[in-house]
Amino acid sequence: MNLGLSIQNSLITAAIVTKDGDFVWQDSYPVEKDGAPSLLTGCTALVDMASRDNPGLNQTVGISAQSSFIDQPTPHDGIGSLTSVDLRRKLQASLGRPAVLVSPGQALALYESCFGKAQQSEVTCCLFLDNHVYGGVTFGQKLWRGASNIVGAWGHMPLPWPVPHELEGRDCWCGRNGCLEVFLSLRGLENEYFNITQTKLDIQEIADAADASDLVASSVLQVLDDRLGRATAAIINMFDPNVIILGGRIAKLNRLYLNVPRKWPGYSLNKVSKTKLLQACNEQFALAKGAASLVAS
Ligand SMILES: [Zn+2]
Repeated sequence: MNLGLSIQNSLITAAIVTKDGDFVWQDSYPVEKDGAPSLLTGCTALVDMASRDNPGLNQTVGISAQSSFIDQPTPHDGIGSLTSVDLRRKLQASLGRPAVLVSPGQALALYESCFGKAQQSEVTCCLFLDNHVYGGVTFGQKLWRGASNIVGAWGHMPLPWPVPHELEGRDCWCGRNGCLEVFLSLRGLENEYFNITQTKLDIQEIADAADASDLVASSVLQVLDDRLGRATAAIINMFDPNVIILGGRIAKLNRLYLNVPRKWPGYSLNKVSKTKLLQACNEQFALAKGAASLVAS
C-alpha cells in the first residue's frame, strides 16, 4: 500500500492506494496561513493516522506540492520561500520517512493515466491551471520526469505566438516575463478583467458576468480561449498527445472544451488534430492518489 499527499489551496489531502489500484483510505487536513509549520504539522498528522490505521504501508510517501521542481524557486505564497530541496528535507525530517515530490500537474497526469480519463492513452499531457500553472507528461501509466525532473514546467514557457501588447509588462514571479503563468493562472485571468474595469472579480464572478452579457467579461474569456489554444497547440506540436487534460479551478470553465480545440488549426502544424481536450475528473483526492501511484511505480 502506498500513501500520497497533496498540498493545495490551504488543504492537505491524503490517500492510500493498494498495489492493485484500490483506494482504501483518505483524509484531509486544513493548512493555516502560517506556512511551513502548519504544513509540516498537518502532513505529519495525516501520515501518522494513515500508518496507524493501515499496517504494512510503504515507508516512502509521494507528495504533490507547488515547489516540487528541484532547486527551483517557490512562488511567493502558500508554503513560503521553501525550495523543493528544503521542503523535502523538512518533510522527511518531520515525517521520519523518505518523500518523493511531484508538481500538481505531474500528480494529476499520474491520476488520470492510472485511474481517470487517460487510462487508454499512450501519451497524456496535463495542464494544472490554478494559482500557478503546472504541467505533467505520462507515457502509458508512467510519469516522464526528465533528466533534471523538470518536465512539465509549462508555466514558465513563454506564451506562444504573442501579439505586441502581450509582450509588455508581464512580469512573472520566476524573474522572467511573458510566462504562461502570467496569462493562464487565476491571478492572470482576474487581472485581465481588473485592468480594464478596475473592478476585482474572481473567476466564477467573471464567468457569471459573461453569462449576463458583460462585454468585458466575455472578451476576457474569449482571450483566455485563444491563449490556451496557443499554449495547447504548442504542446501538440511537441508531443502530439492522445489527450490533453486540464485541471485546477480554471479547468472548470466548460466553454474551454469546445472553444480551445477550435483554435488549434490556426496554430498547430497539422490542420486536423486527433488530440482530445478533456476536463480532469472531479475528484477531491485526485492529486494525493496520483502522488501515491508515483510511489507504486
Ligand atoms: Zn515564470
